[in-house]
Amino acid sequence: MTLRAIAPGGVIGILGGGQLGRMLALAAARLGLQAHIYAPAGDNPAFDVAHAHTEAAYDDEAALCRFAEAVDVITYEFENVPLAAAALLAEHAPVRPGPLALEVAQDRLREKSFAAGLGIATPPFANIEHEDDLTPALDEVGLPAVLKTRLFGYDGKGQVMLRSGGKAELAAAWEKLGRAPCILEGFVAFECEISVLLARGADGAVVAFDVPRNEHEHHVLRHSHVPCGMGADVEAEARAIAGRLADALDYAGVLAVELFVLPDGGGDGHGAPRLVFNEFAPRVHNSGHWTEAACLHSQFDLHVRAVAGWPLPEPLRHHDCVMTNLLGNEADNWRALAAQPDVLLHLYGKRESRTGRKMGHYTRLLRPTGE
Ligand code: AMP
Repeated sequence: MTLRAIAPGGVIGILGGGQLGRMLALAAARLGLQAHIYAPAGDNPAFDVAHAHTEAAYDDEAALCRFAEAVDVITYEFENVPLAAAALLAEHAPVRPGPLALEVAQDRLREKSFAAGLGIATPPFANIEHEDDLTPALDEVGLPAVLKTRLFGYDGKGQVMLRSGGKAELAAAWEKLGRAPCILEGFVAFECEISVLLARGADGAVVAFDVPRNEHEHHVLRHSHVPCGMGADVEAEARAIAGRLADALDYAGVLAVELFVLPDGGGDGHGAPRLVFNEFAPRVHNSGHWTEAACLHSQFDLHVRAVAGWPLPEPLRHHDCVMTNLLGNEADNWRALAAQPDVLLHLYGKRESRTGRKMGHYTRLLRPTGE
């Protein structure tokens, strides 16, 4: 498919007003494009850096139609965009990534089934519709296991670890997750977690960043380290997995794919795969924030380019680095961080700081790549 690029002066519509929307708007501005943010009322730091914004609910059809008429292409910064809103918007302007990526990403069962259907290794998993499904599913999946709500889970929210499989534990877990439809996953004894950030143009061209290794604390990303230190084979396999997903989703934009790395030998020493799919995000991702400091083009630049039909340069990384999130009052340390010559500080301009809230991040450059 040959696409007409959106020329400088064109307008990128972005659903969502948080930090990812803000960073996308900044990247769009650098290419001479304008950003129009659409978000419901709230703390929307993306509004501060955008050409225009619409403050309205995702079910306000009149506002959605006005927004879609005012932009050249529509993208989003979060995966829980209501499908009805995406479908309505798509009648007026291209929505990239397209509806399949949203549909699959919104439901953990569909997501795991989609990956497994492509021959990608996943943890063993089972569908849980009722509490009674838990015991037979545990026989299949094994212990320990992780019970997760199928919808609206992120940063470890909506998930419970199961260790004994006893009646009381299962009842408590089922209650805690609100008796909602769930997926039960076998626990993966991983060595580490990595993610692939790739950009795919609507014409099918794909480029990928070097793979970060991600360290979490309380299920929230704390650091991303680049390079990941897992070796060229693991990185190549990780990129190939992400590429298969992107092609099958007929994807346009930046795709983030989170993978577990098993200990060397694939866990069984008999050539079982070393990489196990966890989840993907159809958007720019926290584990790619380092790209703004350590690469010529950031994940935000490449996402804007991909959805606007611009050329996609191979990401050139010039430094090894580590990115650290600033949560809650950690961002009060901005003055000391801002004084360090090897640190790129990025604050999100959020009005209110709460414990654990992502307020900013910084990337420390370690050494030029290859030194
Ligand atoms: P998720 O929201 O599914 O990405 O889960 C958040 C975090 O929980 C992951 O980054 C892992 O550290 C952990 N986790 C999720 N699923 C599993 C699993 N099946 N086995 C081991 N750890 C998991």
